[in-house]
Amino acid sequence: MRKNIVAGNWKMNKTHAEATALANDVVGSNYAHEVQLIMFPPAVYVSEISKIAASSNVAVGIQNSSQHESGAYTGELSTSMIKSVGANYVLVGHSERREYFNEQNDVCAAKVDQILKAELTPIYCCGEVLEEREASNHFNLVQSQIEEGVFHLSADDILKCVIAYEPVWAIGTGVTASSDQAQEMHKFIRTLLVDKYGIDVANDISILYGGSCKPSNAKELFANADVDGGLIGGASLNASDFIAIANSF
Ligand code: PEP
Repeated sequence: MRKNIVAGNWKMNKTHAEATALANDVVGSNYAHEVQLIMFPPAVYVSEISKIAASSNVAVGIQNSSQHESGAYTGELSTSMIKSVGANYVLVGHSERREYFNEQNDVCAAKVDQILKAELTPIYCCGEVLEEREASNHFNLVQSQIEEGVFHLSADDILKCVIAYEPVWAIGTGVTASSDQAQEMHKFIRTLLVDKYGIDVANDISILYGGSCKPSNAKELFANADVDGGLIGGASLNASDFIAIANSF
């Protein structure tokens, strides 16, 4: 049975004092424990925030990892390092990584492999920019992101992944995909998974929505059959908003 997940991507925000305060607030909050909460702080705080979350049900992840195992890659973090400081989840293919750091599907696929090798959980992000939706190319685009990023995996390995659909035009813009648009794309992704891996596998994979999700729209988005939670940017920077979203199932 797939999990409901609410994950907060803090991006490049928060001082050390602010980040540890936010983590303590999230960990100390009341929320429905059948929801898996995950915090994605900036990498430099992951070790400390993993300790803050250690005795709670809140998990910690990292926003990026290297596609290489180890070696001369200045500034990069390997999945074994990430695991050794207590993180369990890794974001892959976030649209900001794709846009500003030129990460293509093949690099994302190599990252997914390293993440799984370290027994961590990838949250693989996909989603179209506005021009692609306006040109009615959004299904093709998402299909190629999924096929090239994760369809090399075995059924056992895809079951260890989470997928996040994040229409780029909705990220940080205040414009949310409508509930129908979200469900339509989530169903499309689920159908791709059914066709490739069969219904039982497809039904066990969580597909999160991301893009200006907030307390006021989370309930409607999460009510959809194929929306299993959210990847939250801006609203995850405030513990009470983040928890209100977690309590929206
Ligand atoms: C994100 O960057 O993953 C995101 C969903 O951001 P926001 O919620 O701010 O749109």
